[in-house]
Amino acid sequence: MEKVQCHNCQKTITKGEKYMEYDVKGEMYHKCAECYKQDTVLRNYRPTEVYSRVVGYIRPVSQWNKGKQAEYSDRKEYCSC
Ligand SMILES: [Zn+2]
Repeated sequence: MEKVQCHNCQKTITKGEKYMEYDVKGEMYHKCAECYKQDTVLRNYRPTEVYSRVVGYIRPVSQWNKGKQAEYSDRKEYCSC
């Protein structure tokens, strides 16, 4: 059996002990009977969220906003030679 830990008190739930199981988007969380009695709602869990970098990415100039496009047309190519 996989080791089950209480989400609230971090207690290891032993086999045969009662506990509550929560399925949060496929991630399993558990609460021991005591913690469940105190609060039946699972709190402070971390939902799986994906953040990605939005600055510094490369996008077609045609999709830039007008201000950025104007700025782009002002750019000059130069040669350092
Ligand atoms: Zn607990």
